[in-house]
Amino acid sequence: MTDRLYQQDSYLKTFQSPVVTATEEGVVLARTTFFPVGGGVQGDQGSLTTADGESYRVVETVDQDGEVLHRMDRPGLSAGSEVTGSLDWERRYALMRFHTATHVLCGVMFNDYGVKVTGNQLTPEKGRVDFSFEAFDRALLEEGFQRANAIVARKLSVNISYLPAREAMQRPELFKLETGFRHHLETLRLVEIEGFDLQADGGCHVSHLEEIGRLVLTKSENKGKSNRRVYFVLED
Ligand SMILES: [Zn+2]
Repeated sequence: MTDRLYQQDSYLKTFQSPVVTATEEGVVLARTTFFPVGGGVQGDQGSLTTADGESYRVVETVDQDGEVLHRMDRPGLSAGSEVTGSLDWERRYALMRFHTATHVLCGVMFNDYGVKVTGNQLTPEKGRVDFSFEAFDRALLEEGFQRANAIVARKLSVNISYLPAREAMQRPELFKLETGFRHHLETLRLVEIEGFDLQADGGCHVSHLEEIGRLVLTKSENKGKSNRRVYFVLED
C-alpha cells in the first residue's frame, strides 16, 4: 500500500518514488505526499517528473483500494521508472488552513452549543459546513465564529499521534467529524489541537492555529428541517 508521506509531514512539498503501476486510470507510487480526496476535502494536484525531465500534471488524486491513485493529464509514465513528485503547494496549503479551521469551528459549535456537524466540503477558496441545528439562530452562529477566532488567537499547536485501532474504537468521541474512516487500519492517526480538540483524522493540517488567519462567515442557509449550511472564507 502506498506510503502516505503527508500523514507524517503535511509540509512536505516534493518527494521521489518509483512508479508501481501506470494505467489509463492513473499512476500508483510506492510513496506520495499527494492527499487523495476524502472527508470533504479536495484531493491534491501537482506534477510528476521523470529522470529525463519530462513532466506530467496530476489533475486529481483519489483513494482506490487502499492505494493513492494519481490521475494524470496524459499517459506516458511507466511502471519501474523513478519520478519526482511536486505538490501545487499554494492550493494544498489553503486546503490545510480550511481543514484545521473546520476542526476549530466544529469543536466550538459542539463544545459550546452541542451542535453536531453532519458534513463538510472544503475547497482552496471557501469552506462549507453542514450543522444539525434545529433552532437556527444567526446570532448564535456569529457568536460561534467569534469564539472560533478566539481559539485561533490562542496560537495553539496542532499535533499528530497514533493509537492502536482497537483502543480508538472504544473512544467514540474521537469520531465526531470524520465519516467513512478506513476501519481495516491497525493504527489510527489522531489530530489534536492542543488541549481543545482531538479526533481520528487522516488529513493534512497546519501545525499552528495562527496559520489559519481569521474565519469569516459569508453565508448561511437552511437545507431541510434541521440542516443548516454555513459558508466561510479565511482572511490573512
Ligand atoms: Zn478533519
